Amino acid sequence: MCRAYCAARVSGNAESVVINCGKAGNDMSRILIIEDEVAIADLEKDYLELSDFQVSICNTGDEGLTEALNGNYDLVILDLMLPGMDGFEVCRKIREGKNIPILMVSAKKDDIDKIRGLGLGADDYMTKPFSPSELVARVKAHMARYERLVGTNQKPQNDIVEIRGIRIDKTARRVYVDGVERTFTTKEFDLLTFLAENPNHVFTKEELFREIWDMDSIGDIATVTVHIKKIREKIEADTAKPQYIETIWGVGYRFKV
Ligand code: CA
Repeated sequence: MCRAYCAARVSGNAESVVINCGKAGNDMSRILIIEDEVAIADLEKDYLELSDFQVSICNTGDEGLTEALNGNYDLVILDLMLPGMDGFEVCRKIREGKNIPILMVSAKKDDIDKIRGLGLGADDYMTKPFSPSELVARVKAHMARYERLVGTNQKPQNDIVEIRGIRIDKTARRVYVDGVERTFTTKEFDLLTFLAENPNHVFTKEELFREIWDMDSIGDIATVTVHIKKIREKIEADTAKPQYIETIWGVGYRFKV
């Protein structure tokens, strides 16, 4: 069944939307989660609400499709394996009627290739388990892009940073090295992107730590060193002779162009 907004809509009581969601105001971006695993759906909802999104949940593909087409949503998070109509079909049918971003999630890595291959029109895909903060980051990126382009006839283009064989898709938060996708954690991605967007600029570890981590986060500047090491293992052919992220001894790091 659908909860929150769906329930409110059926009862025709608009105020209960606000009460159910624990939020006020009509200007919040609205997200529909179509997910049959209640615990996962609730977790996603909690994190998205903390970021001020208004969230509704549907637990089957059929209900989710009806809700996505009839409700006024800004983004859909769509699970692939659903009872009844599966995520592939739901995605295809939403696309026939709506241009909103669709973020597909799947428990199986193989499915990602299938989603890509079918060209269903999904904007992004994530493999379970993923961290809630990663989900929120991706939702925000897609929402920002969609809001920028909504009302225009332009097809949304992803925000790409490309330097010598490294392609960073900021919208989908994906990194390709010589055409091969590499998996990055949230902070590794943020750190690599920051350095690549400021090429040839030497940053101290302190500056990088301040830029990427919250001031009150647990950790110290050694965290920066650890993350640089992990990023190098993913992008450098020879980590002993880095071609991208250079160590400037006694100072810090720079992304060399
Ligand atoms: Ca499922």
